[in-house]
Amino acid sequence: MSVLVVGSFIVDCVATCKRAPEAGETVVGDSYNTYLGGKGANQAFAAIRMGSKTTMVGCVGNDGFGKQFFETLEAEGFDTSVVKVSPNNSTGVSLVTVEHSGQNRICMTPGANLDYLPEDLDKLEDLIKESDIIVTQLEMRYDVAAHLAKLAKKHGKKFILNPAPAAPLDDETLDGIYCITPNETELGIIINRKIETMEEYIEGAKVLLEKGCQNVIVTLGTIGSLLVNKNGHILIPAFKVKAIDTVGAGDSFTGSLSAMLDQGRKLKDAMQIATAVAALEVQRNGAIPAMPYKEEVYSFLKEKGIELN
Ligand code: ADP
Repeated sequence: MSVLVVGSFIVDCVATCKRAPEAGETVVGDSYNTYLGGKGANQAFAAIRMGSKTTMVGCVGNDGFGKQFFETLEAEGFDTSVVKVSPNNSTGVSLVTVEHSGQNRICMTPGANLDYLPEDLDKLEDLIKESDIIVTQLEMRYDVAAHLAKLAKKHGKKFILNPAPAAPLDDETLDGIYCITPNETELGIIINRKIETMEEYIEGAKVLLEKGCQNVIVTLGTIGSLLVNKNGHILIPAFKVKAIDTVGAGDSFTGSLSAMLDQGRKLKDAMQIATAVAALEVQRNGAIPAMPYKEEVYSFLKEKGIELN
């Protein structure tokens, strides 16, 4: 039983300030922090902390941030031998300013993430064969996600696609996806339709079912998550908690969902557990440091009186 995450490594460099600078202006900020993240790394940490053997594949730069990723992955128990180091590009970075109002501005440079190539995946066919669940997002080159979908299909593996950031998806990639997890905005972009009501989310998800996705889970922030498949639809409500930082909520959901499916949970139960993971994650700062461990998640579910089969 194991999860393979192919995805991005990005460091968020976050400065807070009263007011973000205008063009040509410098303002004095009041705090600065760096957070290791990227959708791929966030999802891999969510999965490993839920107790699945997890492998994270992607590319960092030959620099300090790249080294920090190696150390953090190793400390968590990841095998880093499959992480590529780009000789050309620096580790992916997001420069973020957060105003006291909470308003943020982000400039993301993918850097080394774009040096991970479809042919790199061909070298990993044995790893793909050994994995049960294969997960990716769209923060790398699109042809990497498309090629991974093909390899997952070839080896009969459950493929989970978190289509973020949103991009149009080709029919061949969509056909055969076990589970796709867009939020409502991403779903609207993928199907190129304005969707604003629950009815429209369900209809939108059905477009992806017609393209061959087996399960569509639309995440709806504080509302919860909506599963649409051939049996109908069901909404798993979010827990009411005091959120302090929702960065990584979707990643904690997809990562832990993958781990729970890997551990043999039914999709609805896996969603319920992932909903608890996300509820814990949003109550803490950061993304990777905020990912909860399995024991904590099960205690939270017990506290809430939720029985799982
Ligand atoms: P994304 O970060 O990709 O936009 P969402 O915001 O939809 O993803 O969040 C994913 C899941 O996390 C939701 O389906 C919900 O279960 C949970 N979640 C998100 N925000 C909150 C919140 N403020 N309180 C509790 N749960 C939340």
